[in-house]
Amino acid sequence: MKELRNGLFTLLIAAFLFQSCSLVPIIGRRQLSLVSDADMLSMSFVQYGQFLKENKLSTNTSQTNMVKGVGRRIQNAVATYFARNNLSQDLNGFAWEFNLIENKEVNAWCMPGGKVVVYSGILPVTQNETGLAVVVAHEIAHAVAKHSNERMSQALVAQLGGQRLAAALQQKSQQTQQIWMSVFGVGVQLGAVLPYNRLQESEADHLGLIFMAMAGYDPNGSVEFWQRMSHNAGAKPPEFLSTHPSDENRIQKIKSEIPEAMKYYKQ
Ligand SMILES: [Zn+2]
Repeated sequence: MKELRNGLFTLLIAAFLFQSCSLVPIIGRRQLSLVSDADMLSMSFVQYGQFLKENKLSTNTSQTNMVKGVGRRIQNAVATYFARNNLSQDLNGFAWEFNLIENKEVNAWCMPGGKVVVYSGILPVTQNETGLAVVVAHEIAHAVAKHSNERMSQALVAQLGGQRLAAALQQKSQQTQQIWMSVFGVGVQLGAVLPYNRLQESEADHLGLIFMAMAGYDPNGSVEFWQRMSHNAGAKPPEFLSTHPSDENRIQKIKSEIPEAMKYYKQ
């Protein structure tokens, strides 16, 4: 009897997880999505506001303007790309924001809904506007491909299992918030950061190349940026590489995608 009950329970969880898979048209695959888009957005806006309160905005006007300028151009490119593919409704609820904070970590991220933060420590690696466009377009690509929902959902299942899942899914649950922090690597120890997986990295590279090209930045800058970033990985790898693990194949794959991206590039 007990076995039957356990079996039924497993079946229920499996059915629940199956139902919770949704198709993300921009990347053309189904992904586990246990948190609604509306909840992801409201969590994002709260956490982003909180992060900005606790961190120092850069006082360097020209660098700040560069971040906002590059951000707007990528934002417009994303809107155009989504409109061309009849996906504009997927950007509903976005409230784009681009901020540069004073922090020597080599890092940048985009929370759901277009909430971007660039750390001043990454600017020596990006070096110029094109390098910055690589990073911003890549981060935005993760966001529009809903990778954070997927990573949160996987972490929720792995860490909590079926039984406590329902409770944790309430937006204000402490566990949900902790997982959120580890997804974006904010306010947690390095070891607790959840890296993107190889598929997610490759999806973000691909879309990022297209977005930056449409925004008027030469996609070849992407190869140069990742080469500089990997040379940067000394004794203590940059924060950015712990969330965005890189390997030799990556740069080769990016190179092979440049001809496609060049079709979107207008000088
Ligand atoms: Zn990435």
